[in-house]
Amino acid sequence: MIETLKRNLMKKNKIMPVLKIYVSLIVLIVILFSGCSKDLEMTDSITADNLTNADAVTVSKDGHKFVANEILVKFKEGTSTAARTVALSRVNGTVVEKILTHAMKNSGDNEGITLVKTPLAALDALSRIKGSAEIEFAEPNWIYTVDATSNDPYYTNGSLWGMYGDATSPANQYGSQAGEAWAAGHTGSSTVWIGIIDEGYMYTHEDLAGNAGKNPGEIAGDGVDNDGNGYIDDVYGWDFDGNNNTVFDGTSDDHGTHVAGTIGAVGGNSKGVAGVCWTVKLMNAKFLGKRGGTTANAIKAVDYFTDLKTRHGINLVATNNSWGGGGFSQALQDAIERANNAGILFIAAAGNNGADTETSTSYPSGYPNANIIAVASITNTGTLSSFSNYAATKVDLGAPGSGIYSCLPKSSKGKIVSGYGSYSGTSMATPHVTGAAALYASTHNGATASQIKSGILGSVIATSSLSGKCSTGGRLNVGGF
Ligand code: CA
Ligand code: CA
Repeated sequence: MIETLKRNLMKKNKIMPVLKIYVSLIVLIVILFSGCSKDLEMTDSITADNLTNADAVTVSKDGHKFVANEILVKFKEGTSTAARTVALSRVNGTVVEKILTHAMKNSGDNEGITLVKTPLAALDALSRIKGSAEIEFAEPNWIYTVDATSNDPYYTNGSLWGMYGDATSPANQYGSQAGEAWAAGHTGSSTVWIGIIDEGYMYTHEDLAGNAGKNPGEIAGDGVDNDGNGYIDDVYGWDFDGNNNTVFDGTSDDHGTHVAGTIGAVGGNSKGVAGVCWTVKLMNAKFLGKRGGTTANAIKAVDYFTDLKTRHGINLVATNNSWGGGGFSQALQDAIERANNAGILFIAAAGNNGADTETSTSYPSGYPNANIIAVASITNTGTLSSFSNYAATKVDLGAPGSGIYSCLPKSSKGKIVSGYGSYSGTSMATPHVTGAAALYASTHNGATASQIKSGILGSVIATSSLSGKCSTGGRLNVGGF
């Protein structure tokens, strides 16, 4: 059974307070099913940028959202134009976009993925087109959302508990032990790069600007794709949601900014907070907009970093993926595998359904690719956060995710200024591990992705709340990095 959500009433600016409550209740249902939380903001902007249909989102019976009238098709390589036309005619389909990234071509795939618009319901279209001789696979264009929960007023006290450990602060023994690593002089390296696949992040933030990486092959503002990666003036990264080079678009990029701060806010500068890794190069592939992000754009974001690493020979060790939703996608799994082949870890949030996801898999953290590290969230008393998913083999470890203080863009007197705040979610646990990957790489020159992963998983501290809930049964411990 498929239910299409009608959102005509959900124009935030036009509804009465009572109706707002009503709408909130509807949205809450979506949240409970989808395990996302920040999509309270999606109510007034659910329409995808490249769609004209105001009711463009469908929810499957198991709660996964996808674009209502789009499908992703992978034709078998060598399929004739005539055969493609015949196949697409079965769903009255028109090609929106042929996605053929440099990373795909480098991996020997010259076919890519075709994004198809259809007047049919997506699942109906898929049933008509799947199994055709000329098609390798076809799937929904899933919608992903952030895995953060809203501000938690009980934790907004400025305490960076996630950065401490038993030696630096016995009261914060369930933190990542980053303080111990810092005390040993291990604070990161500007030759280690991290990709943030998320919303945009505020690269001008007072506590992030020092670690804002710039595409080493791109000249800012000259209107030329200097490095030939297909993106013009992608200095700080690329915005795949807006399809432009402006990765930071204001206060709505709070989640991406918060994530960036936990990975790599500048430490020791007498300002704000400190990331797990005080010195690092951050770059951004924004694909989550106010409405969330699609599979089509997630693929491009993942491939962006795979290509950036190989194209420029930078030591890009991991991407941070604090988002989830959707069902299985072969196209996304293939993109993650291309990252794996380029030696890039894909560090992903376990998701916020508070559920055992061993059999009912949460994506993308639950894909089987060797480069994935799936992260659950713990509280500052060492318990599994109530919202956190867990899975005996499909989640790897726990990390601080409840009441995490980090960077935020704030609006003040009509300007965007540097701010700070406390968020909770597996979204917040994940960047602790991504920062850990960067820190490990900075002290282990030439470490491969699998060595970094082994270093992280091999150093966890056994934690009773995580026993049987993840493959290591332990929590993040970077004290020895
Ligand atoms: Ca470029
Ligand atoms: Ca340029």
